[in-house]
Amino acid sequence: MFTKIRNHLTMVYAAVMICYLLAFIIASYSGLVWVLYREEQQDVEAFAKEEAREHVAVFRQIQLTGKPPVEDDDQNGETIFHYAFDLAGQPVSSSEPPGDLRDAVLNSIQNWKGADGEVVFTKIYLPDGKKNYYMICGIRIADSEQVLGTVFVGKNITSYYEMLQRLLLVLISMSLLFLFIATFAGHLLAGRAIIPLKNSFFRQREFVADASHELRTPLSVMLTSVDAIQTDDENRISQFSGQVLDDMKGEIKRMTKIVADLLTLARADASADTIVKENFDLNLVADKVARSFKPLANEKGIRLDYNGKNKLLVHADRERINQLLVILIDNALKFGRQGGEVLLSVKQTTSPKRTVYISVQDDGVGIPAEQQKLIFERFYRIDKVRSREAGGTGLGLAIAKWIVEAHSGTIKVESTVGVGSTFIVSLPC
Ligand code: ADP
Repeated sequence: MFTKIRNHLTMVYAAVMICYLLAFIIASYSGLVWVLYREEQQDVEAFAKEEAREHVAVFRQIQLTGKPPVEDDDQNGETIFHYAFDLAGQPVSSSEPPGDLRDAVLNSIQNWKGADGEVVFTKIYLPDGKKNYYMICGIRIADSEQVLGTVFVGKNITSYYEMLQRLLLVLISMSLLFLFIATFAGHLLAGRAIIPLKNSFFRQREFVADASHELRTPLSVMLTSVDAIQTDDENRISQFSGQVLDDMKGEIKRMTKIVADLLTLARADASADTIVKENFDLNLVADKVARSFKPLANEKGIRLDYNGKNKLLVHADRERINQLLVILIDNALKFGRQGGEVLLSVKQTTSPKRTVYISVQDDGVGIPAEQQKLIFERFYRIDKVRSREAGGTGLGLAIAKWIVEAHSGTIKVESTVGVGSTFIVSLPC
């Protein structure tokens, strides 16, 4: 139970950390991308405007002399290019990107769809499949109101782009490492946090176990004493006293059952009541339990049937399985309908794994859907008065669940109010 709480706390802590780290990565990375992108955009825009201004003179020169002026090679390394075209689309001047990129860049300029002066982030694919990233700006070359041509300016930002990708990778790996360390620390801290809880739980469990154990002897002494008074011929007790003694005996028996159930659960919690497995015929055990309940069933006017006939070997704790059957049949008779029927069946399936199924079906009051899970909790009773009158303690199904789980099995109930309930136990063998 505590391992579960600890793991749960660690998972909550890790989930919070994941959200926090994700938010951090997204915020810091997108912030950085935005700043760099903005800066490059402004750079390219300014450069394009400057080229457009400079090309007015170039176009004037062409108009005068028919030839462009001799270009001073203002190469900006290999990262920036420009292409200027006249209105007829004829190239006027250029500073071109490196050879392998030229065709791809020209192609994307020819298919240009951006607005005048707009900077567009463009992916350029090389024939070998490699990608280059460019910021390209196309701007009109205009003298006063007269448009002379267009100049395209582009900047290769592949290295920035790759740097950002590497940065993202580093951020993610750092976060994963940090998450791993934080989860480990969270696990340690959760372990420390539940120490006081553990201590008080253990003290309480010890108290329940000790108290139940200590109560058993006085209760059995009381029961024998009442029996002794009732069977003492010399002692003439009045009818009223006899009635009181009967009631007292009933209450002592009830208390003895509660104490025994509490002790079973306290031991189960402490894992002290270990399951002792042996090979036995489940059919024989079920048959015996069904027969032992026949008188009670007859008294209540309920037909109790058991459908098993063949030998069914299981490897389990015989006493506990016996106790499980007693709890389920006792409940079926307690909450069954007078004149109704209770059916105990036992069967096995062999594929995919050998599993034994025990089911106890009644046609009694049924259990509302929202309470079908709760009835397996300690002291949970739907109708407290009815349960008490029938001698119930509210611990039966909690013990049944523990027995089943101790055998790595499952227990469930299928029920409809007013129609009846079926408790189904599956035990892997
Ligand atoms: P109890 O001692 O009260 O029977 P259990 O733990 O065995 O305690 O059962 C818990 C509650 O589940 C019961 O009080 C009852 O309300 C409900 N319950 C159990 N078995 C049945 C059944 N076969 N039909 C209807 N209700 C049931």
